[in-house]
Amino acid sequence: MTKANRKRDSEIIVMHPSWLNYSGHVFLLIVFVAGAIVCFLNEREVLTVVGGILMLIAVIILIHAVLRRLSRRYTITSDAVSSRVGIGGRSEKEIRISDIRQVEVRQGMWQRIFGLGNVLFASAATGGIEVTFEGVRNPTGVKTKVNALRDALAVADKKRCPQCGEFIWKDAKVCPHCHLTFASEQEGQ
Ligand SMILES: [Zn+2]
Repeated sequence: MTKANRKRDSEIIVMHPSWLNYSGHVFLLIVFVAGAIVCFLNEREVLTVVGGILMLIAVIILIHAVLRRLSRRYTITSDAVSSRVGIGGRSEKEIRISDIRQVEVRQGMWQRIFGLGNVLFASAATGGIEVTFEGVRNPTGVKTKVNALRDALAVADKKRCPQCGEFIWKDAKVCPHCHLTFASEQEGQ
């Protein structure tokens, strides 16, 4: 492995969903806490119980948001993008950079306001979305970064098929996607 390769491998970005992605949780939290305070301020005993229940729900909402954020971990290296969901790496999904077919950014209305978004990665193998970065900051920056990594790899040992546009190995004689044959016109490559 060359020095350049090693340097690229160490280039790791680790992300979590932004806290701002959970503004819905925060809103509910405020509503329940406010409700609980109103109940506690009232002298009646029944309302104290109701206030206690509202407080308990608020705590559950808070724990849910914290766990949801901390249990999602997204990584980009020069080789792959991966998402890990669940405490202790329950479910890990990975796509090699060279297999990425499409990177897409989707933003909900609230996400757009906060500059957040979901970044979806689809692989050439299945065509479906396999890895999703949920509610990360600067989603277009993430997309640009991954596309740059993909282009760097593509230039290294791949070429684009002139007929179907898929990336294929530089020394391929036949395109595996559209079966275009590259006679022996390798001189120009
Ligand atoms: Zn082709």
